[in-house]
Amino acid sequence: MEKLCITDEPEYFREKRVLLRVDYNVVENGEIKDTFRIDSSLETIRKLQDFGVKSIVILSHSGRPKGKDERFSLKPVAEYLKGKLNQEIHFHEDVYGDIPEDKPLVLVENLRFWEGEKNDDEEFAKRLKDMSKSDIYVNDAFAVSHRKNASVSAISKYFEKRFAGLLMKEEIEKLSEIRDNPEKPFHILIGGAKVEDKIDLLNNLVDKADKILIGGAMAYTFLKAKGEDVGNSRVDSKSFDWVQNFINTHNDKLVLPEDHVATDKQVNPPCDDLKDEEVKETENLSGLIGYDIGFNTVKRFRDVLKEAKTIFWNGPLGMFECEQFECGTKLLAVFLSVLKDEGKKVIVGGGDTVAAIRRFDIDLKDFHFVSTGGGATLEFLAGKSLPGIDILSDK
Ligand code: AMP
Repeated sequence: MEKLCITDEPEYFREKRVLLRVDYNVVENGEIKDTFRIDSSLETIRKLQDFGVKSIVILSHSGRPKGKDERFSLKPVAEYLKGKLNQEIHFHEDVYGDIPEDKPLVLVENLRFWEGEKNDDEEFAKRLKDMSKSDIYVNDAFAVSHRKNASVSAISKYFEKRFAGLLMKEEIEKLSEIRDNPEKPFHILIGGAKVEDKIDLLNNLVDKADKILIGGAMAYTFLKAKGEDVGNSRVDSKSFDWVQNFINTHNDKLVLPEDHVATDKQVNPPCDDLKDEEVKETENLSGLIGYDIGFNTVKRFRDVLKEAKTIFWNGPLGMFECEQFECGTKLLAVFLSVLKDEGKKVIVGGGDTVAAIRRFDIDLKDFHFVSTGGGATLEFLAGKSLPGIDILSDK
């Protein structure tokens, strides 16, 4: 990696005060909804402590609060960290107050409680440095590195050296493998609902990919553009022209669903009021809404994916939050999770994809790499430059 990582200069950290930006965007209604991102940050915290730092002040945002809002407070994260690290952690509620100097480990309240964070405000960034009296800045928040926020971007001007944490380093290295030089054959499995979000990624990776398998609601825009009757399934009309063009140029690479799990009414997770007899497995979507790929499609996808050495998977293959429509995503998640033992590299990205894997009780360690990012992962693979990475010092 060309960027400076904390392990490149361990001595530099001795007796220093570190400002560590992480992504703990995990709190919903006062509870931690998933610990993956917190767990992924622990190695960097432990490593910095091994280096003999004087203190670590941890910064993060969570959700989209409008001003101070207890439901988005990072307090539950402080409790969780305490247990995981088996250490006291001081919770600092107000960035406009200074942090007591004798606290070796500190978590600051949700930065999005203050306007300055989102506005990439230089004064706010300076306040973050001043309140912590920190000497060194470390960014381990890959998942927010696509946002021009004060603690990710403006803050850089106040530190001579800006280091990548261990998670940031791993994200950059593993995602670069597929962005720049994937071991072939390289297949992309893509799902989810919004075509628009994935256009730049597909444009950037299509020449490197051997096959692109499309499921989820996304697939209906592709099937419609191929002239098929998709009934009332979700179609992304804004992206329709792009999809048509993409099909014209890359049809030989595309693998689309051939059967579906569908119903005739509009549903929302968790679909509790949907009766079994209202759900059909079918090739014909006329008058119906497709919410999952059917079993023949699962089999076909598995056959195609078997040929790959490297696979990137982003997006659920159906509305996995409903039991009735989870099967396609579940069967493929299980299939992909055993490929590591065959020496194949499966890289997974995206918040919903990780949520699906967790729902099915599959161990994230069963994959070559699971990115903590959603939008950041897509932008990185789309070849865009990310502010939170750009500001890191070069080696
Ligand atoms: P995205 O944010 O674009 O990755 O979309 C993720 C969402 O797509 C999940 O919440 C799924 O429930 C939803 N989804 C996947 N397949 C379908 C489908 N066939 N119809 C409607 N929603 C779907």
